[in-house]
Formats: sequence, structure tokens, C-alpha cells
Amino acid sequence: MEFINVCEPTLAGKELEYVIDCIKTNWISSAGKYIEQFEKQFAAYCNTKHGIAVSNGLAALHLALAACGIGKGDEVIIPDFTIISNSFAITYLGAKPVLVDVDPKTWCIDVKKIEEKITKNTKAIMPVHMYGHPCDMDPIMEIAKKHNLLVIEDAAEVHGAEYKGRKVGCFGDAGCFSFFANKIITTGEGGMVITNNDKIAEKARIMRNVSHSPKKRYLHEMIGFNYRLTNLQAAIGVAQLENIEKYVDARRNHAKLYNSLLKNVKGITLPAEEKWAKNVYWMYSILIQDDFGMARDELQKKLREKGIDTRTFFIPTHAQPVFEGMDFTKGSYPVSDEISRKGLYLPSSSSLTEEQIRFICDTIKAIQESF
Ligand SMILES: *Cc1c(COP(=O)(O)O)cnc(C)c1O
Repeated sequence: MEFINVCEPTLAGKELEYVIDCIKTNWISSAGKYIEQFEKQFAAYCNTKHGIAVSNGLAALHLALAACGIGKGDEVIIPDFTIISNSFAITYLGAKPVLVDVDPKTWCIDVKKIEEKITKNTKAIMPVHMYGHPCDMDPIMEIAKKHNLLVIEDAAEVHGAEYKGRKVGCFGDAGCFSFFANKIITTGEGGMVITNNDKIAEKARIMRNVSHSPKKRYLHEMIGFNYRLTNLQAAIGVAQLENIEKYVDARRNHAKLYNSLLKNVKGITLPAEEKWAKNVYWMYSILIQDDFGMARDELQKKLREKGIDTRTFFIPTHAQPVFEGMDFTKGSYPVSDEISRKGLYLPSSSSLTEEQIRFICDTIKAIQESF
């Protein structure tokens, strides 16, 4: 069997046709019809009023925070267990990340532990929907309302996921997506801020393009960024969106098959799906428990030898060397530490075949038995 990558894009629709159209018409930069079309159609897919396309997911987070007015001295609550992009986006603005441990089942921010971290400087909560599973949004929105906080969702891994039947990304003031090559739909590099708030949308749109004043070009009344997406990238995005339901269904079907093949393997914890959740299984993620018989990293190495690529989970924010000694890294985050140590995700491309998934699961079982 050919080497199985952990995740690769599926470009089986009209991507090439639309990219050729950009080149033939000379619209290859950050103006052109595909950008507006991509923004409108993706926002509509999320049932949101506005979409502001940007150059990547981290840019989306930074821009959303900036457009929401987050700045120096403000505190933003994030889960400790997440990608580095959240704490980076916050620190770019001179604001401070405040870490909360995660839920042992969903691996998303533990809603019971948010309130104890709120201070007079807290301005926002940034929940991160993890590996395809949505956060428990109702309690988060209640806490935000009670303490008058903004909510900016990081939905980079969960295109199409639902909380109580509603797509995530637009519960709060703004939602952020990534279209990196391994996300459920991709533009190569790319991202989007979605919002129902006209003011945030307008500000984000201005800031995305170095904050030219709406009154006069080359007049700048606030700090801005160059976070523009190109028409070429948006063209790929429009083509990807035409197949998004297929890709989400593929992810869910793969998870169902993985679950059925791995459920009786000793020492493997399968990904959860709460009653209120539609998990889109961006990455099919499992925990390798101590009674599996072999350390997670050893299993990863053996799988790679058999031609199967996997990834270990994120390293907790509090343990990142870049933040060493900073006071926000203090405290204990036992769930975050544990899943970071045990977590592994298996190949998850939309294009994966049933045969490949069976081979992966058989290989895991064979490795366990050989030990
Ligand atoms: C991928 C990802 C991002 C960053 O997206 P980029 O496009 O790679 O910058 C942010 N947050 C989460 C949760 C992600 O998984």
C-alpha cells in the first residue's frame, strides 16, 4: 500500500477551471469576483451576515480580535489545550492570554472553569472548537452575557460542525476559520472572519487592507494589516465550497468506520460526540492509554514504518518555551497535559478509502499484538 498521509486536500471539483479563469482574465490579486463570491457563499453556509476573507487562520484571529477592540492590558480567555495561534494573536495586540483547562471528553474549553479566571481586565472569551467537536456554547454565552464579555470563536477546525443544530462560528461576536491545506475545505493558505455585527465587519474589512480610511484613500485613522486573500485562492475556495457537504460527510463516515474497527482495542479512547454536537472529525483523534501496552510515540514510529502518517496532539500553551516565565502560564492544567501526552490523530483526508482505514486499523492491532 502507498504511504498514507495524515491529511491531504481533495481538489476534485472545479478548482482548476476557476483558477484558469483568474489567469485568463488577469484577476490574480486581491480584487476579483471570486473573493466576494467566496465571502458571500461561505457566510451563507454558516448562516452569518458577513464574511471577510483573509490570508490565513492566524490572520483571521488577529483581525477579529483587533476589530473587536482588544488591545493593551486586556485579558482574553482561551483553552490551555490549543494551537499556538490563539495565544500569538492575543499577544500581538499587547493583550494577555488567560488559560483554562479543557473538558476530558470533548477536549474543548471546560466551561465550569471559565468564571474563576475572569478579572476586571477580561474582555473576551475565545473558545476553540477542537479537532471537529464544538464547544458547549450555551454556558459560554451565558457567562459572556453575565460579565459583559465578547466571544470570538476559533472555528478553524470545524467547518460544518453544529451545536444544538446550529452551525458553529456565529454564536459569538465573530468566528474565525482557516483554509490551510489540511482543513476540511482549503484555499492553500487562507482564512475568514464571519460575523453578524455590521460594525465589526466594517472595521475588519478596513483593517484587512492597511486601514485606508473610507473617507479618503491613503489616509489612515487606525492600525491596519495586509491580510488580503487573492482571487486565485478564493477561486479554489469557491470550488471547494461546492463540495463541502461531501467532505463533511466523508469525515463523519470515516470516523464511523474507524470507531467500529477500533472500539474493542484495549487502551484506545475514541473521539466523543456529545448529544448536542455534530462532530465533523476534522482529524480522527484518539488517546493511547497506558494499558495499550506501548507508548504513544512508539506507536507513531511503528505506524510510520508501515507507511501510515499520524500526528501527536498540540502541546499545551502553558508549556510553550516561548512563554516561559510569563505569569499567565502559571497554574495547573491536568486534562490538557494528559491529552497532550496521549493524543494521536490518524489519517483523516476526505479522500481516504475504506480499504485504507481497514489497513490502518489492522496495522494498529498487529502492532499491539506484536508487542
Ligand atoms: C489551523 C488552525 C489555526 C490557524 O490556521 P492557519 O491558517 O494555519 O493560520 C487556528 N486555530 C486552529 C484551532 C487551527 O486548527
